[in-house]
Amino acid sequence: MTTTIDLVSYEDALASYDPVMGLEVHVELGTNTKMFCGCSTALGAEPNTQTCPTCLGMPGALPVVNATGVESAIRIGLALNCEIAEWCRFARKNYFYPDMPKNFQTSQYDEPIAFNGYLDVQLEDGETFRVEIERAHMEEDTGKSLHVGGATGRIHGASHSLLDYNRAGIPLIEIVTKPITGAGERAPEVARAYVRELRELIRALGVSEARMEQGQMRCDVNLSLMPKGAERFGTRSETKNVNSLRSVERAARFEIQRHAAVLSSGGTIVQETRHFHEDTGSTTSGRVKEEAEDYRYFPEPDLVPVAPSREWVEEIRASLPELPLARRNRLREEWGVSGTDMQAILNAGALELIVQTIEAGADATSARKWWMGELARSANEAGVAPDRLAITPAQVARVSELVAKGELNDKLARQVIEGVLAGEGTPDEVVDRRGLKVVSDEGALGAAVDEAIAGNPGVADKIRGGKVAAAGALVGAVMKATRGQADAARVKELILEKLGVTEG
Ligand code: ADP
Ligand code: MG
Ligand code: ZN
Repeated sequence: MTTTIDLVSYEDALASYDPVMGLEVHVELGTNTKMFCGCSTALGAEPNTQTCPTCLGMPGALPVVNATGVESAIRIGLALNCEIAEWCRFARKNYFYPDMPKNFQTSQYDEPIAFNGYLDVQLEDGETFRVEIERAHMEEDTGKSLHVGGATGRIHGASHSLLDYNRAGIPLIEIVTKPITGAGERAPEVARAYVRELRELIRALGVSEARMEQGQMRCDVNLSLMPKGAERFGTRSETKNVNSLRSVERAARFEIQRHAAVLSSGGTIVQETRHFHEDTGSTTSGRVKEEAEDYRYFPEPDLVPVAPSREWVEEIRASLPELPLARRNRLREEWGVSGTDMQAILNAGALELIVQTIEAGADATSARKWWMGELARSANEAGVAPDRLAITPAQVARVSELVAKGELNDKLARQVIEGVLAGEGTPDEVVDRRGLKVVSDEGALGAAVDEAIAGNPGVADKIRGGKVAAAGALVGAVMKATRGQADAARVKELILEKLGVTEG
C-alpha cells in the first residue's frame, strides 16, 4: 500500500469543488431462516453446519422466498417513504467468487421492491437534511472466506483458504440513495448522519440489530467531485464495506481530498472500488469497477414474482412504530431541550438510557443530568458506551428519587453512583454501607451551625450587619464538618435564623 499522494487540504478542496455522494447500505435482516431456504441464520455456529442444497447451490435445488424477509423489506421501504412495487422479480447477478456457491447472487435489478423515497437526517447543529432514496431491494449474503497462512488474514500471501457457507443466503436489504448534492463541506457529516439515522430506523422497525461492528450493516461510500458550479457529475470512486459511523465520515472526507488532489493536478479519476483503512484513515485502490452488463443480470426463473397486495402493504404501514426522528422531536419537546442538546445525547449513546430512567420514575431533568454528566464522564474514562456501565437506569432513577426526597444532596448522590459503578451494590446498599445519608437530624445540624458561628465571629457579625451573602462561608464550614452530608439549603436557613436575619 504505497500510494502516497499529496492530499489537497479539505478547505481548499471545497473551495474549488462540489462533492456528490451516493451511499449504498447493506443490512442483514434478523429473520430466523435464510432468504430462500429454511436454514438457520444464528451466528456463531460451527462452519458449514447451517447449509442445505439450496444455499449451497446444488443442481436442481429450488429456492422459496422467505415471507418475513419480504415483509421486512416492505417495512423498511415504507419507513423510507418509498413506493412499494405492485409486482417485482428477483434477478440473478452473475459472477464467480468462491464464497458464492451458486456463481450468481439472487438479487433484484431493475425491479426493486421499494423505490423513490427519502430519509430526513439531523446534523450536529440540529438542522435537518433530506437524503433522497433511489431504491431498497432484497438480496442474499455470500459465504465467508478465511485466508490462512498470510499476514493479517489477507488473501495475499495465503497458502490456502477456508470457506464457511453459513452466511450464504442470509437475507440482505440494500438501500441506495440518489446522488446527494448540495451538502458542500458537510457531505461527510451528512453521510455519517444518514447511516446513523438509517441504523436507528432499522432498529426501531425491529428488522435487524444493525450492528455495524458485527457486519450486520455496512456502507459503500460513492463519491465524486465536480468543479464548483458545474452541472455534470464527475467520475466516482466507491469505497466498499465501511463498517463504522466514524469511518463513513472519514472515508468521505479522505476521498474529497484525494479526488481534489488528482483533479487539480490535471489527472483523471478512474471509476474503481476502494478499501478504507481504519489505522491511517485513508483509502487504497481495489478493483476497476464492473459495469452492470458485466453481471449479465436476468430475471430469476426459479422464483415466482413478488406481488404484495395493497391490503398487506397498508396493514404493514399501519403497524409501523413511531420513527426515530419523530420520536426524538417529540422527546425534545417533552424534555424541553434544544436540537444540539438532543444531538449530544444521541452522540453520547444516552438516549435510550435517559428514556428508561424516566420510565423508572425519574424526572427528565435529573435523568438527563446524570447520564450526560457524571455517567458520561465515567463511560468516557472507561472507554465504554454508557450502556456498558455497571449501573442500570432503574438505579439512576433511585438515586434521583433519593435526591428529590432530600435524603441525598448532589455531592452525596455522586458518591452513591461512584459506589454502584465500583460494584458496591445497589444505591440503597451504598448509602447504608458508606453512611451517606444527608444529616437531617435538626439537633445535630443545629450543633454544627452553632459551632460554625462560634468559630467564625467576624463572619457572623457581617451577616448580622446585613451581608447575607457572607453566609456562604459558614455553610461551607458546616458542610465540611458534616463531611458533605448536610442539606446546604437547610443549613443556610438555620444560620440566618440563629443570627436573626431574614433573607431578601
Ligand atoms: P453500483 O451498483 O455500480 O455501485 P448503483 O447505482 O447501485 O451502482 O450505486 C451507485 C451509488 O452512487 C448510488 O447511490 C448513486 O446515487 C451514486 N452515484 C451515481 N453516480 C455518482 C457520481 N457521479 N458521484 C457520486 N455518486 C454517484
Ligand atoms: Mg455499488
Ligand atoms: Zn440452506
